[in-house]
Amino acid sequence: MNELTSEVLELLVCPSCHSTLAWDYEASVLECTGADCGLAYPVRDGIPILLIDEARRPGADAN
Ligand SMILES: [Zn+2]
Repeated sequence: MNELTSEVLELLVCPSCHSTLAWDYEASVLECTGADCGLAYPVRDGIPILLIDEARRPGADAN
């Protein structure tokens, strides 16, 4: 299975805050929906990398 389905997405939660994730197809990231979290996890070859160390933090590019 190479595609993320809505069924799979429903099973995935942010490992940091356990909020649900929203798939940003164009950016190939899973964005945490937690208001105080907002981490964006990369998706590589259709496989979400749900590691906090791999996640991009909101506003990280601003530094
Ligand atoms: Zn989160």
